[in-house]
Amino acid sequence: MRICVYCASSEHCDRIYHDAATALGRTLAEAGCTIVYGGGAVGLMGSLANGALAAGGEVVGIIPRFMTEVEWQHPGLATLEVVEDMRERKHRLLTGSDAVVALPGGCGTLEELFEALTLKRLGLYFNPIVLVNTNGFYAPLETFMEQMIEQRFMNPQHREMWTLVDTIDAVLPAIRSAPRWREDARSYAVVRP
Ligand code: AMP
Repeated sequence: MRICVYCASSEHCDRIYHDAATALGRTLAEAGCTIVYGGGAVGLMGSLANGALAAGGEVVGIIPRFMTEVEWQHPGLATLEVVEDMRERKHRLLTGSDAVVALPGGCGTLEELFEALTLKRLGLYFNPIVLVNTNGFYAPLETFMEQMIEQRFMNPQHREMWTLVDTIDAVLPAIRSAPRWREDARSYAVVRP
């Protein structure tokens, strides 16, 4: 499996988040998964890659050229794809992935996550999307998404687009048991009267 991981560039978030990122890298590597991520050396991105590389995992980084010009890329990756801009990076991260995993992060992580959710709603992406709720990080987002459904900005079926897990050990089981996203997702993408 090729797993696309979105996560923070921040180095200064709590240790608990770095430990989760390292554990995710190790867990996916030990399961024989290829990790595709933003290619950064710092923050949770760095911890994720280091965890996977230490376990002999295959890690693909996809990074815009401007970031390599300031040397933000991880120096230890066997595969680093340099693309022209952030849009191309997002497209290459998601395309061909068998699942998306979002660790905690800032606006960049949420932007990437919400693109994946939006494409899934529109029937343009069909694979599991797992949010890692380390330290309860994603609980407010879950509440907010519930509000979107309650106030009819999304349909109840859209709840099945993502799975929240509390531990890294639960990530692969959640990917394997995610509800199959229907081929006709576009037929219920729109909220009707
Ligand atoms: P955030 O969650 O706001 O920290 O953003 C994470 C995303 O921001 C990454 O996937 C990248 O798109 C981008 N990013 C920000 N800083 C860096 C960096 N130093 N190296 C690589 N990517 C970065």
